[in-house]
Amino acid sequence: MAGNITLTMIKPDAVEKNLTGAILAKINEAGFRIKAMKYLQLTESQAGQFYAVHRERPFYNSLVEFMSSGPIVAALLEKEYAVADFRELIGATNPANAAPGTIRALFAESLQRNAVHGSDSDENAILESDFFFSQLERF
Ligand code: UDP
Ligand code: MG
Repeated sequence: MAGNITLTMIKPDAVEKNLTGAILAKINEAGFRIKAMKYLQLTESQAGQFYAVHRERPFYNSLVEFMSSGPIVAALLEKEYAVADFRELIGATNPANAAPGTIRALFAESLQRNAVHGSDSDENAILESDFFFSQLERF
């Protein structure tokens, strides 16, 4: 089963701009199946835990503040080659460098407020999925 799931978040900037539906449509059109999904607001502590790998980076505190500033949509997605194909669908971290037609090129406003998260490896996809979803919440 390794390699067929990835974890996304529609970030507070995109939710606030009512882009949730448009982004989910792009995700479905690209062939991803939604295995689990929830609408929630992270606490600062939870956002800090999710991004703990970036703890030492200069943007960490600002990222945690942003990611806990409003509601997000977290979703567990399934597709062959999910991690790689989803990173391709969302585009580069900085929307200025994101390929035309990618979710970040279309919907992100800045390097930080970049509309969506996507797991960077199969291992992290599993860890991030377990952060948000119990087995009973997966279909
Ligand atoms: N980020 C930021 N400043 C930076 C780099 C990243 O605010 O210089 C934010 C941005 O929201 C990014 C997140 O931190 O999506 C995680 O960074 P990462 O390098 O993991 O990028 P991603 O995997 O999301 O493309
Ligand atoms: Mg990352």
